[in-house]
Amino acid sequence: MATIAFIGLGNMGGGMAANLVKAGHAVHAFDLSADAVARAQDAGCTPAATARDAVAQADIVVTMLPAGRHVRAVYEADVFGAAPDGALLIDCSTIDGASAIAVASAATDRGYRMVDAPVSGGIAAANAGTLTFMVGGAADAFAAAEPLLAAMGKAVIHAGAAGAGQAAKICNNMLLGATMVATCEAFLLAEKLGLDLATFYAISSQASGQSWSMTSYCPVPGVGPETPADRGYEGGFASALMLKDLKLAIEAAQGADASVPMGATAGALYQALANAGDGGRDFSAMIRFLDGKAGR
Ligand code: NAD
Repeated sequence: MATIAFIGLGNMGGGMAANLVKAGHAVHAFDLSADAVARAQDAGCTPAATARDAVAQADIVVTMLPAGRHVRAVYEADVFGAAPDGALLIDCSTIDGASAIAVASAATDRGYRMVDAPVSGGIAAANAGTLTFMVGGAADAFAAAEPLLAAMGKAVIHAGAAGAGQAAKICNNMLLGATMVATCEAFLLAEKLGLDLATFYAISSQASGQSWSMTSYCPVPGVGPETPADRGYEGGFASALMLKDLKLAIEAAQGADASVPMGATAGALYQALANAGDGGRDFSAMIRFLDGKAGR
C-alpha cells in the first residue's frame, strides 16, 4: 500500500481521496478549505497543515484542482522539490493542454514521473469509485498510475503522451455539450409537434437519434431514468463547468486549426445560459434556456 498526498478535496477530490483510503492507502490530505480537510479526515485521511507537508513522505501525489493556473501554482510552489525523488505525480483536474504539458515537462526535468488523468463521471461517480480516467504520459508512468486510478474508477485508458488525457477529455465534453443541446432541441420540437415526450423518448432512445445525453441523462423531468431534470436541475454537472470545458475545447481548436462549429455554437449557448443566471444548474438545464425559462 502506498503513501499518497491528495491536494484538492472539493466536490470530486473528496470522494476520490475517500476511495483511496478504502483501498488501504495512507492518504495525507490538503485543501485551502479547512472544511474540506475536515471532511477528508472524517473519511480516514490524515490532515496536512500545508501542501508541502502533505507531499513530504508521498510515493504518489494526486491533485484535483479547479483550473490550469491552480495546477501550475501548486506543482511549482508545493510539489517540485518537496515530494521525494522519483515520486509519481497524477493530476486529475480538467485543465488546458498547454498547462498539462508544461507541468509534466517540468516534472520530468526534476526526475519525477507524471501523468495527466482527467475524469469523466461527475460527483456521484467520484464518490462511488466509478470514474473513467483518460491518461496522458509515458508508458512507464501510466503503468505505475493505473492500479491507483483503478481504485477510484471503472475504466483507466492510456490516451497517449503528456497532455493526451486533457485532449481526450475536452473532445469528449465538446461532444457531450453538443449532443445535450441537440437533445434538448429535439424534445422541445417534439412537444410543439404534439408528441407525447415519453413516447418520443421510447422511439428515439431505440432509434438513430440515441445518445448518452438522451438515454442516460434525459433533460426532460419524468422521462427516462432518474436524472438532474427530476431534481429541478440541481446537482449533477454544473453548466458553468460545461462552459469551462467548451472554452478549453474551442481554444484548443483555434490553436490546432480545427473547425468546430458545433462545439463553438454549444459554447455560445452555454455562455448565454450562464449569463441568464443558470450557471449553477445542471447542464441539462439547457432545455429551460431554449424554452425561454432560464433564470426563473
Ligand atoms: P471544487 O471547486 O469543488 O474543488 C476544487 C478544490 O480545490 C476546492 O476544495 C479548493 O479549495 C481546492 N483548491 C484550490 N486551489 C488550491 C490550492 N492552491 N491548494 C489546495 N487546494 C486548492 O471542484 P470539483 O468539482 O471538485 O472539480 C475539480 C476538477 O475536476 C475541475 O478541474 C473540474 O473541471 C473537474 N471535473 C469536475 C466534475 C464535476 O462534476 N464536478 C466532473 C469531471 C471533472
